[in-house]
Amino acid sequence: MRRLPVFFLLDCSESMVGDKLDKMQETMNAIATALRSNPYALETVYMSVIAFAGTAKTIAPLTELYSFYPPKLPLGGGTSLGLALDTLMNEMDKAVVKTTAEQKGDWKPFVFLITDGRSTDKTDVAASRWQAKYAKRATLIAISLGKSADFTLLKKLTEHVIIYEEADKNEYTALIKWISDSTIAQSKSVGEGVENNALPSLDELALTLVKDPPASVDEACVVLTGRCQKNKKPYLIKYERSQIELGGGKHKENVVDYDSVGAFMIDEEYFKWSQAQPSAIKVNTSLLNGAPGCPYCGNHTAFAVCSCGKLTCTSGGAAVCPWCGEELFFSAGGGDFDVGRSLG
Ligand SMILES: [Zn+2]
Ligand SMILES: [Zn+2]
Repeated sequence: MRRLPVFFLLDCSESMVGDKLDKMQETMNAIATALRSNPYALETVYMSVIAFAGTAKTIAPLTELYSFYPPKLPLGGGTSLGLALDTLMNEMDKAVVKTTAEQKGDWKPFVFLITDGRSTDKTDVAASRWQAKYAKRATLIAISLGKSADFTLLKKLTEHVIIYEEADKNEYTALIKWISDSTIAQSKSVGEGVENNALPSLDELALTLVKDPPASVDEACVVLTGRCQKNKKPYLIKYERSQIELGGGKHKENVVDYDSVGAFMIDEEYFKWSQAQPSAIKVNTSLLNGAPGCPYCGNHTAFAVCSCGKLTCTSGGAAVCPWCGEELFFSAGGGDFDVGRSLG
């Protein structure tokens, strides 16, 4: 039996924290359910999931569809797309059966790369390796959630670069449908013995094919890592970009600032999936609007900064930094200052 391998290469970087990661998880579940209800897909599709953040790992090896259950997606700091591509190529070498004189190998794999930001590691070597040896052996479809991905890089990897923008804030319906439809169409045609490289047309309300890479936009969000004063558990504070215009006439200029979205509980696994990094990347607090409360203990703000540069929660008064152990005293107010930000 010739299999149709389908790889998902999923960005689980911290910019996905909260809603977006939940939706990515639901998207995987919904795709698996849709595929399982199709007889052609059931016959040929094998699925695998590779997650990447600061590191990249196969979290579900290539498995036949009926026994495939989407794994729980991790979360980490960083977007190591170079490492993710290497992991994919190694996985293809290991798991995909090649055609030889003696045997017909697997059908050409489908790869769905879903990302929402720019790579934080080096990608040149992996991208060249992909172009040289793998691009012709797989159909790679790169899907950018929003417009912050590195389109120039994605276009080097594949002609199929798609921007997904939510028409309905609560659903990834169009995305789920398109990915399921593409996979089902391919499994049907390979079921009939033909490899069909055409992809179904896009629901233009939500999905746009990128022809010329669009001008890059500013980073969509700022994410900061903190620990609760009381239980020492980690959380992320997320800010999303809001564009405001200052001044008018000739002196009009755009100023980018960020609005608080919330503080989210995370687990210690986060640090295993994060890129080792010096806290060299700073963001000035004058660009950040609002400070959410602690997601664990309800302290008024999760945005109290120790001299070590790390965040903790406080409602004012004496505290001990859960990161470095220093004794602190927080009073209300304070001017603008720089804090270490995560890689995104
Ligand atoms: Zn707390
Ligand atoms: Zn500290």
